[in-house]
Amino acid sequence: MKLYKLEAVVLRARDCGNADKLLVIYSREFGKLKLMAHGAAKPASRKRGSVQLFAHSKFLINRGRELDSISQGEIIEMFSSLRNDLERIGYASYLAELVDAFAPEGEPNPAFFELIITTLRLLATEDAELVARAFEIKALTMLGYRPSLERCTHCRSPLSGHLYFSPAAGGVLCEDCRPSYPDARTCSQGILELIKLFLRWRPVRLRQLRVDRPDRNLLKLLMGEFIRYHLERELKSAVFLRRFPNGAGKTGV
Ligand SMILES: [Zn+2]
Repeated sequence: MKLYKLEAVVLRARDCGNADKLLVIYSREFGKLKLMAHGAAKPASRKRGSVQLFAHSKFLINRGRELDSISQGEIIEMFSSLRNDLERIGYASYLAELVDAFAPEGEPNPAFFELIITTLRLLATEDAELVARAFEIKALTMLGYRPSLERCTHCRSPLSGHLYFSPAAGGVLCEDCRPSYPDARTCSQGILELIKLFLRWRPVRLRQLRVDRPDRNLLKLLMGEFIRYHLERELKSAVFLRRFPNGAGKTGV
């Protein structure tokens, strides 16, 4: 079959000459894919809207020898309120980069696709910083990098007293095991409960949450280190987001 359909979110769109665009998308049917969109950068192109960054679109795809290409595109959702706010765009870019970095190519995961769509909707309207934190932990867990949070990751004893979090250990540590992991940082019962809440993924609960600035900063630091540990590099958009030192900024809370 030469043509096939898919539903996807555009994670990356790069101009590559002749008004063509090279896209990285995450599709419901096939997971992450690279696609060519010929002529999509032309002002009159009918594909133009559907291949914009973060667009949720339906595509008709033409099988190619090296790279498949988009024959037709139709927008399902543009997340327009996301696009008028630099900080929300920053968080959406971060989501896209995180998915691109961690999701394997060509492996379908429909539940993960739904998570991306829901998160983009939430990033457009809710407390974008908390939405991003919830997405980090939920996404990493769905892709096989779940941190251990119920017992001490090293000795398996029940958690009490002072708690620590170590990316190298792969989760929470007790006081006795902390010296074995130089990257361990002080965590708290409150932060641990928040991470577990994010993992249960109840978007409505996110709206009711009140998290103070020190806890937000600690959460960001812990998750950032956990991601860097698995990725062995820093995400570019994480560097960009540092331009918003108070995190939530215009998005309030
Ligand atoms: Zn221990």
